[in-house]
Amino acid sequence: MHTTMKRVQKGALGYYICEKIPVRHAFTTKTGGVSAGACESLNLGFSRGDDPEAVRENYRILCDTLGLGLSRLTRTEQVHRDEVSVVTEELAGTGLTKPMVWESDAIVTNLPGTPIVGFYADCVVTLLFDPASRSIGVCHSGWRGTAAGILPKTVDVMAGRLGARRESLVAVMGPSIRQCCFETGADVPEAMESSLGAGVRPYIEPRGEKWFVDLQGINAMLLRQAGLAEGNIVDSGICTYCEHGEFWSHRYTHGVRGVHAGVICL
Ligand SMILES: [Zn+2]
Repeated sequence: MHTTMKRVQKGALGYYICEKIPVRHAFTTKTGGVSAGACESLNLGFSRGDDPEAVRENYRILCDTLGLGLSRLTRTEQVHRDEVSVVTEELAGTGLTKPMVWESDAIVTNLPGTPIVGFYADCVVTLLFDPASRSIGVCHSGWRGTAAGILPKTVDVMAGRLGARRESLVAVMGPSIRQCCFETGADVPEAMESSLGAGVRPYIEPRGEKWFVDLQGINAMLLRQAGLAEGNIVDSGICTYCEHGEFWSHRYTHGVRGVHAGVICL
């Protein structure tokens, strides 16, 4: 685990934070909620076959524990593409108290009191915070989103629309499947190299007929290219597959699982 990461236990809720982010935020674990069965217990997804009332109760628990306003909590819609949306006043609450209106794997805002949330169960969720402009972002990137460059695109939208400064922007990649466990066929390395170029090669290790891909390493490379300082790029170092006791891993559970959230709020 990265030295700036810390596990917090508050009541029944266990979650991880990063010391580099001075505003309220969390990467959740399985624990602290009310869901049962494969989604036991803090499932934050409405499409996992879970009781929607249990999911809503889990959001209430999460917000109460972190001191966040539930009514303005705003969700990504995760479709493995590269759309980034800015959460404006009229869009606060999208995906929870208001209908989903975008297909955005990343959302950004400078509104205070507006928690923004992205989801993971192996994919990389990155929380972004810029102290200069007081703006935040959350970005979901699995291998498709990584190949599409959604994380540097999120940085571009924060810089272009919210005035974020690349030199002060902090990005923290949360618990996700790591190279130790992310075994793929040829499709993943081919997609990475065809869209991102030969620079991805050091992050892809062939082993027999398979490849092991370092998604966090590739995303960190993209963040450096986007102008972030090395010291402001944090890779949590937590592998959801290795740590399948604490986290749902999509691979480990063969897809029968709940989903965690990365949340951040000004
Ligand atoms: Zn692992």
